[in-house]
Amino acid sequence: MPNIDTVFVDLDGVLVDFVDSARRALIAKGVIEPISHEDMMAKWPRGNFEFHDVFNVPEGKVWGALDRLGEDFWAEMEPTADFRELWSMLSIPFRSDNGHIVVCTSPSKDPGSAAGKIRWMERHISKGFRAFIVTPVKHMLARPGAVLVDDSDEKVNKFREHGGQAILVPRLWNSDHKFADNAVQVVKAELRKLGGW
Ligand SMILES: [Mg+2]
Repeated sequence: MPNIDTVFVDLDGVLVDFVDSARRALIAKGVIEPISHEDMMAKWPRGNFEFHDVFNVPEGKVWGALDRLGEDFWAEMEPTADFRELWSMLSIPFRSDNGHIVVCTSPSKDPGSAAGKIRWMERHISKGFRAFIVTPVKHMLARPGAVLVDDSDEKVNKFREHGGQAILVPRLWNSDHKFADNAVQVVKAELRKLGGW
């Protein structure tokens, strides 16, 4: 690992299946019409990061409903389908007990979000997991040797602009949506290019 010493990994949309958890919660609250996971993904406007656009619901209404759900909403989300594969792939060269792989996640405006996310990591990564940073300003961590693995074009670009390296995890809602079926392979190849695998 000559070029990279730390990998910062995002939760929502990367390790955590935020969109499907939000879909289920918003249907239950009557904010959106019932729709299956498959139909939601099929109709998702490729490259559009904004969840509320997919359902033509105002942003404030979506986040108001989600924020009222509190800590449990964030703690009880399902992992993404490729969570295990992604995490173990990253964990080979970047061992969390050495501080080389760090979860980096932005909380929502609800303070319960941060607590729920910590509970999620304890449950799905490991009990007592402590290698995390909860911050909305991920670019403050940018420096040579640090790589951000994230599903947000905006966050990835900002991290690069501030002197770090970054890998966009291909998902339907970002500019690499065409590679969404091969997200793990893409991340692995990008990491190898940066000299970290
Ligand atoms: Mg994300």
